[in-house]
Amino acid sequence: MLKYLPFRLLIGCSLLMVCLQVSAAKLAIVIDDFGYRVKEDNQILALPAAVTIAILPSSPHGREVAEKAHQQGRDILIHMPMKPLSNQPLEKDTLSPSMSAEDIDQLIKNAIKRVPYAKGMNNHMGSEMTSSLPGMRNVMHSLSQSNLFFLDSVTIGNTQVKNAAKEYGVPTLRRHIFIDNHQSEEETRSQLNKAVAYARKHGSAVAIGHPHPSTVRALQKYLPQLPADIELVAVSSLLSPQPADKQPAKSLRMLSEEAKQPQNSGSSTPPSVTPEEEVQVQPEPEQEVTTVEAPPAELGLCEFETPKNKLQGIDFIMFVVEGIYHDKALQPLLLKD
Ligand SMILES: [Zn+2]
Repeated sequence: MLKYLPFRLLIGCSLLMVCLQVSAAKLAIVIDDFGYRVKEDNQILALPAAVTIAILPSSPHGREVAEKAHQQGRDILIHMPMKPLSNQPLEKDTLSPSMSAEDIDQLIKNAIKRVPYAKGMNNHMGSEMTSSLPGMRNVMHSLSQSNLFFLDSVTIGNTQVKNAAKEYGVPTLRRHIFIDNHQSEEETRSQLNKAVAYARKHGSAVAIGHPHPSTVRALQKYLPQLPADIELVAVSSLLSPQPADKQPAKSLRMLSEEAKQPQNSGSSTPPSVTPEEEVQVQPEPEQEVTTVEAPPAELGLCEFETPKNKLQGIDFIMFVVEGIYHDKALQPLLLKD
């Protein structure tokens, strides 16, 4: 009925706002190199429990930190030392491509014992190891027996993590932004802004930092003021329940951006370099950065068929309102008027 149209539009717009809330972009922050610096580690553990920590298995305080983080319900990763191309001091039990499959498996199993409650693993350094397909096959074979996922810290452009993980069915995520290549509060804040922008554009982002005093200070100030459309999440929550080759349903946010922008706009991931190695990380082709697939909104309210033509202005709003009206989960609410 025409007389109900303004009321319906109001409901539609309200639901649109709810819908946008539901599809908040997800930001995961992982802090590496845990287990050595008691003061900074404790400061990180005082941050929201959604901040993930990655513990070096041979560190003196690793187990103690894992116990504390577990009690907080925090995601824990094993920060597995892997051989870099550059010449620098190595952690004890660093995995190298020249090791046998048995040795790699043994070192990983030891690391799992030393870092209790870990849900996954990421690499400490590792430009040589992660660019070796045979080496990473050995890692993934071992991980596949332990039900752990692998977060690729991406310390080298031609990382073989995803290729090897696929062969053994190990779930993977990848790092998008390093937040403290330069240890200054300002730099970390600026990198966090980039991570937020990346999450808004792609639905989610994984940022990695270290327990440096400047990083701690920046996070203490930044996290309480996180934008309302950004949800801080544990890194494991970004693992997709879908098969790797299945594309997630397009969210309303993504759709509205596509409607505004021409395809192939040429934008790319901001290039990052590893803080742990001198090796320059090449920006990855955009399509390869989609390993992290944001799960579709749980309520199913924000999934729309992509229109054949680009929509603008009132046409776009009406398309959204129509979509909401045809959503089976919402119909009982809408018919009340
Ligand atoms: Zn590290």
